[in-house]
Amino acid sequence: MSPDTVTLALSKGRIFDETLPLLRAAGIEVLEDPQTSRKLILPTNRPDVRVVLVRATDVPTYVEHGGADLGVCGKDTLIEHDAAWGGAARAGLYRPLDLGIARCRMSVAVPADFDYARAVRQGARLRVATKYVAIAREFFASKGVHVDLIKLYGSMELAPLTGLADAIVDLVSTGNTLKANRLVEVERIMDISSQLVVRPTALKVQGARIRPIIDAFREAVRARGA
Ligand code: AMP
Repeated sequence: MSPDTVTLALSKGRIFDETLPLLRAAGIEVLEDPQTSRKLILPTNRPDVRVVLVRATDVPTYVEHGGADLGVCGKDTLIEHDAAWGGAARAGLYRPLDLGIARCRMSVAVPADFDYARAVRQGARLRVATKYVAIAREFFASKGVHVDLIKLYGSMELAPLTGLADAIVDLVSTGNTLKANRLVEVERIMDISSQLVVRPTALKVQGARIRPIIDAFREAVRARGA
């Protein structure tokens, strides 16, 4: 990685789209559209700033290990990343700012005909399918509910419909996906939004380039909230 270039890791979709206005506020325009370009490294109007497109769950890894200097990822991704490495927040990832973008919530959902409250009251052992194993484990442990966690990588909504699980833990935004699959939200575990992550050593070496970007993001987030 060139010490003269700042690399920002983003994932395609909501995070990319909602980060663009923040970049603009920092005077940075991405010069290619990931919808039409097949490139994974996107140039910007600044020769010293580029964007790399990575899978959402890879953003913390890219930033921590130097494939990118800073990145944007969901709080869910960060919690699961920390848990995969022992639970504590990773020293190699500085988290200076909650960007308040890609907002959604992490929830428990069950089939409409499943009496979740009763199952919990009776101390039943629940089979819970999720991609977010650390968040689910911590949540049910804090409630004293016994669960068998079933790790999935794809559509979780399918699990209760096929008898694989009693419940799912997933991200919910509009609730349309749940509704379309006759699932109902029974617990709201936490609110999720995307965070800015930076590698501390990059900040040390490239501070003159990275700090103004963080400051512009912070100001844009503040102005939007005002
Ligand atoms: P919705 O139908 O709007 O409730 O969206 C739910 C689907 O979109 C689920 O499959 C979620 O995994 C996914 N989803 C919703 N919001 C986000 C987000 N902020 N980041 C990643 N995935 C999301």
